[in-house]
Amino acid sequence: MQHISTNPQANIEEVPLTLKAEARDFSFYYGDFNAIKKVSMPIYEKKVTALIGPSGCGKSTLLRSFNRMHDLYPDTRYQGHIDFYPDETNLLDPKVDPIEVRMRIGMVFQKPNPFPKSIFENVAYGLRLRKEKSKSYIEDRVEQALKDAALWGEVKDRLHNQATALSGGQQQRLCIARCLATDPELLLFDEPTSALDPIATASIEDLIHQLKEKVTILIVTHNMYQATRVSDYTAYMFMGELIEFGETIQIFTTPQRAETEAYITGRFG
Ligand code: ADP
Repeated sequence: MQHISTNPQANIEEVPLTLKAEARDFSFYYGDFNAIKKVSMPIYEKKVTALIGPSGCGKSTLLRSFNRMHDLYPDTRYQGHIDFYPDETNLLDPKVDPIEVRMRIGMVFQKPNPFPKSIFENVAYGLRLRKEKSKSYIEDRVEQALKDAALWGEVKDRLHNQATALSGGQQQRLCIARCLATDPELLLFDEPTSALDPIATASIEDLIHQLKEKVTILIVTHNMYQATRVSDYTAYMFMGELIEFGETIQIFTTPQRAETEAYITGRFG
């Protein structure tokens, strides 16, 4: 396991950091279009890292690369490395099975997307994909995942009702529980609150705080206040390039690059 004693970009945090993943000279192409340009950045274990930047700068593309989402679409190409620790697997290696990657690296989308199944079966989905047979194990995992997603109390008496009958905020927490059931090491959030009202947004942000005790989180947000509320580290991107990476407090108070400052002070983007 790789340990880093301090963050080279800032000196506020002195506890040892562990790398969970790392993009190294990572580039991505849609056909001939170079959407991500030689990005290198660390993802620290059990921390929240936010990707910010103006629309179209490549935040979602970078996020989705971490669980090989682009494999589902033709004419796309990866270059470089996305290393995953502690095993140091390059997630982009064609020999790496994208299905197994998606069990270790869960994804939560902008709009909650529960399956048209019961609440229970939504959460059990990944366990069934893994061919888990034990009924009691599946029940225990579903209960724990719903507790970890702060949803258990609201649904425990109606586990066999349709998931689509839940409110938007509950559906999003259900989608988080669905990811948690397979014990992922990294959770990817793609603007997870943009379709939610302020109360549901606050509950997802609280949940992100709790989840980082167990899991590493990478989140795309277009909302800079959200980045400051939920993240420990922030990466500012522009036109496919990583402009600046550092502790969130440093990025938002003493950005090193003029471009970052222009963006966070609202003079640009
Ligand atoms: P962001 O998340 O920062 O808004 P995206 O990652 O969605 O940015 O997009 C980055 C760039 O890639 C944009 O120029 C966008 O138009 C382009 N892009 C995104 N998806 C596709 C696609 N499926 N095919 C071609 N170009 C795409």
